[in-house]
Amino acid sequence: MIARIWQRLKGTVAVERVERVKEAPVATIIPRSEHGVSRNNISKNALKVLYRLNDAGFRACLVGGGVRDLLLSLKPKDFDIATSASPEEVRALFRNCRLIGRRFRLAHVLYGREVIEVATFRASHRDGEDGRTDAGGRIMRDNVFGDIAEDALRRDFSVNALYYDIKDYSIHDYAGGMADVSARLLRLIGDPVTRYKEDPVRMLRAVRFAAKLDFEIAPEASDPIADLASELGEIPPARLFEEVLKLFHSGHAVKSLELLHDYYLLDYLFPHAAKKLGDDDESTWDLLERGLNNTDQRIRAGKSVTPAFLYAVFLWMDVSERYELWLAKGEAPMVAMQRAGDEALAVQLTHTSLPKRFSFPMREIWMMQGRLLTYTGKRALRLLEQPRFRAGYDFLCLRAELDSSLQERSDWWTRIQELPVEQQEEMARQAPKPDQLRKRKRRRKSPKKPDSEQ
Ligand code: ATP
Ligand code: MG
Repeated sequence: MIARIWQRLKGTVAVERVERVKEAPVATIIPRSEHGVSRNNISKNALKVLYRLNDAGFRACLVGGGVRDLLLSLKPKDFDIATSASPEEVRALFRNCRLIGRRFRLAHVLYGREVIEVATFRASHRDGEDGRTDAGGRIMRDNVFGDIAEDALRRDFSVNALYYDIKDYSIHDYAGGMADVSARLLRLIGDPVTRYKEDPVRMLRAVRFAAKLDFEIAPEASDPIADLASELGEIPPARLFEEVLKLFHSGHAVKSLELLHDYYLLDYLFPHAAKKLGDDDESTWDLLERGLNNTDQRIRAGKSVTPAFLYAVFLWMDVSERYELWLAKGEAPMVAMQRAGDEALAVQLTHTSLPKRFSFPMREIWMMQGRLLTYTGKRALRLLEQPRFRAGYDFLCLRAELDSSLQERSDWWTRIQELPVEQQEEMARQAPKPDQLRKRKRRRKSPKKPDSEQ
């Protein structure tokens, strides 16, 4: 039917195209003896899920980053499984399983803190009961189940569409992913513009994988990005928050920042920082690169990282500009910082969300900056005891790397932390009073001009 309409509208060439698209792709099968993916490197829990699905008569494969990263001798972040079992059939097999998602229904099998994601093979679709795209081609619902070949073609990059089949440990390659892994190339499956319009987050994924894997984005996949970047404006802030964490908390934050900037994608995540970087504002480049480098190093050293600190860094330029404005209007420093923080956060939340459990400590980091520069004696000692002292202090150290006037004070906090409690008291009494504080106090004391003169 569709072929006939196309024939009337566009002639026979179009018909051939429609029919060719419908043809199921044939997999290249790479037997176990010819690839390096070993069960020793797959999590025990993922193997358990794969075997149980297989024993119950379903097709069960490891897919996505798990296969890709193992081929590259990297440690996968998580293990994703694709299966012929429906979500309900998966649930029936595992007691520790819950079904999640509406737009994309999935089964999560839980083993303590490890979550094994199990997705049913899906087909691409036109609008129907369980699949929906909007007028711009965006996928709104993606629950049309299909076979493994169809499932492969709706994945994003060829290197993410390799299936490790637990039945015989072979890899099934439907989209030329093995060759692209060897060539270290990110190639979108299908027409790049259509695939980005279906889901603009794929542009962020391209950059993320390029940074993480040190892969090239194939020219046909990289060329349309700058033009389509604005489509990210339509993505819900909560989804963008998830992507921000994946981009900046995976150990490749600096590289991700540079690529996001190059492709004009940062504008849709952190617009104020993006504008400053676009204007070649050196202090913004320095702050972000140092802050993110810090994050990368902590991750490599196995230390904890928090979105509170990440956002504190990304929004700092905006906060400090707004802070100066409030000070100029005559607000006290603490109030000025509070207002600046509120405003910057309110703008940010229209782009990417930030759950309260992170925005609260983020604002504490900002509020603490003034206290770290001015508190002495007992107040300084009390600050040391605060649960968020460390984050505020780390942030001051970062700023001090770029602003030598903060160095003396940040060194002072470094030293006092290393002392036994008795000596801390003595040192707190002798804390240097920074010039900054005296200047601000003078300004606050000057008589307020009447309204007509302002
Ligand atoms: P990593 O886990 O290292 O971040 P990944 O490739 O496994 O990388 P996931 O987000 O875990 O990424 O997704 C698993 C797989 O699901 C991907 O490899 C890809 O095949 C498919 N996928 C995920 N998101 C999309 C998307 N937006 N469009 C198409 N396919 C996707
Ligand atoms: Mg994954």
